[in-house]
Amino acid sequence: MATPERMCVGCGEKLPATTLVRLRLEGAGVVVDRERRGGRGAWLHAAGPCLSRAVKRKGFERAFRKAVSVDESGLREKLTGNGGRV
Ligand SMILES: [Zn+2]
Repeated sequence: MATPERMCVGCGEKLPATTLVRLRLEGAGVVVDRERRGGRGAWLHAAGPCLSRAVKRKGFERAFRKAVSVDESGLREKLTGNGGRV
């Protein structure tokens, strides 16, 4: 089975979903979706500048099609810790 491709909301690169981290909305906040529940998700590189870029370029707003609040430092901690890895 082919690995589905997903677009990183930070850099816009299309990559296999396994190399990106899935995020979802919890209320109006963006959280790491470890369980990969259904629904609308946003995909992001866990490392590098993509989180900041996504925030600046409103990548999350585009992905979720609504205004969202992003706790950038809290999210980065979860992404760079083992929480972001499956
Ligand atoms: Zn990226």
